Amino acid sequence: MKLLIINYHYFRDTKSGKGIHPITTSEFVNQLDLLSKKYLFISQKKLLSYFYKNSFPKGYFCLITFDDGLKEQLKAFEILKEKKIPAIFFVSSMPLITNKVCMVHKFHYVMEQVNYDSLLDCVLQMFPDSPARFKDQLFQKMSMNKYIYDEPKWAKIKFYFNSILNQREKHLLIDQLFQGLEKDEERFSRHLYMNDDDIKSIAQSDMLGSHCETHEPLGSMSDSQIHNELLNSKKFLSTLSSREIHSVSYPFGDSKSVTQGVIDIANEVYSLGITTERGINCQNDIHKRSLSLKRVSTSDINNGEYLN
Ligand SMILES: [Zn+2]
Repeated sequence: MKLLIINYHYFRDTKSGKGIHPITTSEFVNQLDLLSKKYLFISQKKLLSYFYKNSFPKGYFCLITFDDGLKEQLKAFEILKEKKIPAIFFVSSMPLITNKVCMVHKFHYVMEQVNYDSLLDCVLQMFPDSPARFKDQLFQKMSMNKYIYDEPKWAKIKFYFNSILNQREKHLLIDQLFQGLEKDEERFSRHLYMNDDDIKSIAQSDMLGSHCETHEPLGSMSDSQIHNELLNSKKFLSTLSSREIHSVSYPFGDSKSVTQGVIDIANEVYSLGITTERGINCQNDIHKRSLSLKRVSTSDINNGEYLN
């Protein structure tokens, strides 16, 4: 068995080209059609049954995943149901409970709305180390390696924000810019994220998974915080949906966010854990590293195939 796991985020018919990469309805439908020529789409339930039995069929399988529990993804959910294609929607619990917006989504919104030069000015003025960093060649190389689908200027901003700033500094930068754009965070949150009923209908189709509580990187937390993020989101989603939650997609999903410590704790709570380490999983991966499965982005797919 070869298992290709693909990740989707924003589902929009207009693209700003500024830091986020939505897929449009027609691109999504086209990608599914092309994928179906090589891969058999697999459901969470089927994958779990193979995993529990440690018995895998031969062939190429594809698991479609959506992260972040965004309301706009309901359009994709309808398309998938119509085409009878299974998927997993990984949802963070904090926005459902508090109607707050996750930091990462505030950052995406700020990138979409604020002019690039103003955003850069803000960063350069606020953080004394940033002018030297932005000129540093290694920093530029690392940012472009991480954000291969972004223009270099957006890659640098994203890398600085996501990989260099600490939580306090991120809040300092983004809360101020976000509040300048959007006064009513609760209203914004209700508009951005799925609500309880949306989650229930996704769970009824057996397509629900956890994306932790707060969408902060687990790798920088203490063991008890990691445990709470993993367990509380599972408990909340399973109570809301009256379904067992078996799988987690780690926020950010890179090696810094998904350390061995995170994987060990996730192993106590979930059966499947999905990272953003690029690659195709073989059945040995599914058996031996079920809590750190590889996954590619929709942007990595060319003509319905992922070529390593
Ligand atoms: Zn996410």
